[in-house]
Amino acid sequence: MNQRSYLDYNATAPLRAEVREAFAATLYLYGNPSSVHAEGRAARAAIEAARAKVAGLVCARTEDVIFTSGGTEANALALAAQAGGAWHCYMSAVEHPSVLSGGRFYPETTTRIPVTPDGVVDLEILAKELEKHHLGGWRPFVSLMAANNETGAIQPVAETSKIVHSAGGLLHTDAVQAAGRIKLDMAALGADMLSLSAHKLGGPKGVGALVLGNGASVEPLVKGGAQERRKRAGTENVAGIVGFGVAAELAAADLAKMGTIAALRNELEKGALTIAPDAVVLAARVKRLPNTTCIAVPGAKAETLVIGLDLAGVAVSSGSACSSGKVEASHVLSAMGVAEEIAQGAIRVSLGFATKRADIENFLKAFAELIKRLRPRVAA
Ligand code: PLP
Repeated sequence: MNQRSYLDYNATAPLRAEVREAFAATLYLYGNPSSVHAEGRAARAAIEAARAKVAGLVCARTEDVIFTSGGTEANALALAAQAGGAWHCYMSAVEHPSVLSGGRFYPETTTRIPVTPDGVVDLEILAKELEKHHLGGWRPFVSLMAANNETGAIQPVAETSKIVHSAGGLLHTDAVQAAGRIKLDMAALGADMLSLSAHKLGGPKGVGALVLGNGASVEPLVKGGAQERRKRAGTENVAGIVGFGVAAELAAADLAKMGTIAALRNELEKGALTIAPDAVVLAARVKRLPNTTCIAVPGAKAETLVIGLDLAGVAVSSGSACSSGKVEASHVLSAMGVAEEIAQGAIRVSLGFATKRADIENFLKAFAELIKRLRPRVAA
């Protein structure tokens, strides 16, 4: 069998070799980072060095990084913070399920803001909603992802934070997919909170962070010890955090290579559209992450494409979700108003640091064979 081509970085990135080495070495640092003795201090020093590296990825202050068990917990921590009192939560309709769940906000105090057909939040509607609730005495808490995981559409976070702040509110951004793919700067974004996940960067799974900005604070979800400046109790995942630090440092350096990744992604899209001229690249008219494309083949089933590509050695994922035995279009594509027969055939291809031209060639070869099999007359 040919070498496999892994093109599903938005699901998770392969573990970077440098991360694996640092992770393994840290397992020997058995001290509890809260202990005052030399063993404890060694573990503490490793965590603090990693914290500085993670802060560097988003131009934040080191002390504003709160380590969590991943992006999901970081989102939950952000959405727990403002649950009490006269707060109302607004989120775009294309957020990750960990945000759409609403955290500790009650359903009646959450509002979903629609997106345009290109998958970008409708700021006019958000501004109108904020005005309405401002009159009602609510303070807005807005959660808007930096970039979408399915389409790669980049959201206007900096513009949104201005609107939110002038309404006296707070802005959280889920930057799990954007980190390491576009430059992120807490101050430029105006973010009060930002979520990260290590495994999307080539770090270990089960570790992430909520980064605070503008002096914002959060109430701990997990209470107990004084770890993470009393914002997240529990003995730290030292090796995971160290791995996260290494991945964050490498991802920051790799931002310079994103032009090459975008060129490979564009080559893949061009090739796919030549093979299936009626295919649609979703969110193609807006700024997208350089590594992501969501391609829909009308009339095809995404599952058939994903399985067919997998059998040919290429890993991608589908833009549809299987729930209660029925394959439905993803909430992202539904929110964009993508017609059912197009959404059903949507696959997400996402590139990353180890992607080579050969992977794109493998994808196109496998895709051409699949389309020929699925639509013999069209491809002939
Ligand atoms: N937010 C976004 C946009 C994601 O794509 C993901 C993972 O797919 C998460 C949050 C959850 O991150 P984690 O897997 O670290 O819990």
